[in-house]
Amino acid sequence: MNSKNLPIILLVGLAMLYSSCSKVPVTGRRQLGLLPESELMGMSLTSYKQFLASNKVLTNGKELAMVKRAGDKLSQTISSFLQNNKMGDRVAGFKWEFNLVEDKTVNAWCMPGGKIVFYTGIMPICKDEAGVAVVMGHEIAHAIARHGNERMSQGLAQQLGGVALSAALANKSQQTQQLFSAAYGIGTQVGAMLPFSRLHESEADELGLYFMAMAGYDPRVAPAFWQRMSAGGGGRAPEFLSTHPSPTTRIANLNKWMPKAIQYYNQSTLKPR
Ligand SMILES: [Zn+2]
Repeated sequence: MNSKNLPIILLVGLAMLYSSCSKVPVTGRRQLGLLPESELMGMSLTSYKQFLASNKVLTNGKELAMVKRAGDKLSQTISSFLQNNKMGDRVAGFKWEFNLVEDKTVNAWCMPGGKIVFYTGIMPICKDEAGVAVVMGHEIAHAIARHGNERMSQGLAQQLGGVALSAALANKSQQTQQLFSAAYGIGTQVGAMLPFSRLHESEADELGLYFMAMAGYDPRVAPAFWQRMSAGGGGRAPEFLSTHPSPTTRIANLNKWMPKAIQYYNQSTLKPR
């Protein structure tokens, strides 16, 4: 390559980075999203189907009913909230599904595209439907905020630097697959996402709190839920590992966001009356 071309290539790279920046709903944080979300959804769907085929998926029972009810309320509320605020693209192509699998691990996740799995191990910590809504709000928030895409994009930018970025994106399928595997831990343990960064965890806590409130669940139950989580061995699954904010920071943050969450709750038509 002619070194004279380098500044031009760098400029193109920077322009691509800039144009790939978007804003996270509600928090307004600018983020990098280099990969088409549709591609991530495709890869997620494959992993999701493999996961369901190799795990015991419950088909009835009170706990499953709770997961589905909270899931329906949250997904419908979040979709209309985003559409009413011109952010409907965040749920474009989503086909929501809610599952409960028989597994003692304290875990739950939501993949791009709205595929959600709860493990029976997290249910005693949830305790009731409002507790399920805390987890559901948090997991859906990771997907809506496109934290997986952001993590993969950062990986891509880091690995390749600005110069090779355009080349990699032009010829991306294998590279993307590798990044997807790295971001979601596919290959080691299907469906088990690697820990998100602390920033992503906090953002999911904040959005999750608002989302549950919009869906008519009292957000004031969230601090107690996260206390149970930190006391009850929440460190056994990747999604709930050490990158989570410390319990004290988490509770302080939740209380900071609570007034706004209570506003959403008071406006919700779904709250019990
Ligand atoms: Zn999380």
